[in-house]
Amino acid sequence: MRFAVVAAAAILLAACGPGPMPEPAQPPAAGLVALPCDGRGALRPVHRTYCARHRHYVTGTVAAVLREAAERLNRRHPDAAILYMEASWPRGEKPMPPHVSHGDGRQIDLALFYETLDGRPLARPPTASGYGAFEPPRRESERVCVPDGGHHDRPDPPADRTWRLDDERTAELIRSLSADPRVRRIFVEPHLKQRLGFAADPKVRFAGCAVARHDDHLHIDFH
Ligand SMILES: [Zn+2]
Repeated sequence: MRFAVVAAAAILLAACGPGPMPEPAQPPAAGLVALPCDGRGALRPVHRTYCARHRHYVTGTVAAVLREAAERLNRRHPDAAILYMEASWPRGEKPMPPHVSHGDGRQIDLALFYETLDGRPLARPPTASGYGAFEPPRRESERVCVPDGGHHDRPDPPADRTWRLDDERTAELIRSLSADPRVRRIFVEPHLKQRLGFAADPKVRFAGCAVARHDDHLHIDFH
């Protein structure tokens, strides 16, 4: 659910230069499988470090749901892929720091879809980690969390940014996952839940102000 910027930066640094060594490979806990890491199919890591650090394990059921959703998406948009960030580590125990709810293979963070200001799809999020490209509320009144020194204090991106949320593809992904009975819930900010057309969908929920903003990624929980 939550993912600290500092931790994201540390992970990326570890992949690109001096830093902590990746966790040693270990046999995955029973029932966990690795998501694809080759970067070629319709289901890919945003950055290779998620695989290098063994943060890409899920249950077999989750892998099947994601694979099927990616195939559906890819049939409609051959240039599109589901890009994942943090899932679980192979040991299958919660929590997996810095997250409070990842670790047993039933959670994953997925990238939102973005486009240029003239509506051309971006192949990937405009940040290296996939986190941090916040889509701000269109009206200040839609911002439900007050500044309190927590995760929701993270600022909106600059007003002169060259990208914006791809509402259509992001909504399509949420709709596809929400329709799957193996998906338990999907966390997004209230302004996106409303704007993308999920006001009446009980699976699409607000995670609260005490955890990370969910207008830069989707957190998916599975049964
Ligand atoms: Zn998450």
